[in-house]
Amino acid sequence: MSDCIFCRIAAGEVPAVKVFENDELLAFRDIRPQAPQHVQIIPKRHIDTIQELGEAEIGLVGRLVLTANRIAKELGVAESGYRLVFNCLSDGGQEVFHIHLHLLGGRQMGWPPG
Ligand code: AMP
Ligand code: ZN
Repeated sequence: MSDCIFCRIAAGEVPAVKVFENDELLAFRDIRPQAPQHVQIIPKRHIDTIQELGEAEIGLVGRLVLTANRIAKELGVAESGYRLVFNCLSDGGQEVFHIHLHLLGGRQMGWPPG
């Protein structure tokens, strides 16, 4: 989708600081980091929201999470801990309508989330 910022990053049309890439997935640093380490892990294929995930995407979701774990190790936050977040639609605080898994680490997280 040409008007989707994350599709444009995946296509190389918008710059991003990449931390991981393969044929299916891309991970890059968040432009407005909410923690010392804040990375977005996305499928290169456009999907609007996690509500649209179906049986066909079970493997994709697993690979998003395992990739986040791997990046957490590489960024040095695996031992101290980190948070993985999918925001969904309005109450979930979703701003970019291309699914993305937030990896946040490097500080103590609060609960409940804001
Ligand atoms: P969400 O509220 O879950 O939709 O989160 C969208 C995230 O994407 C926010 O944390 C933004 O800071 C981040 N973001 C938006 N545009 C960019 C961009 N061009 N490069 C990196 N991160 C971005
Ligand atoms: Zn997209």
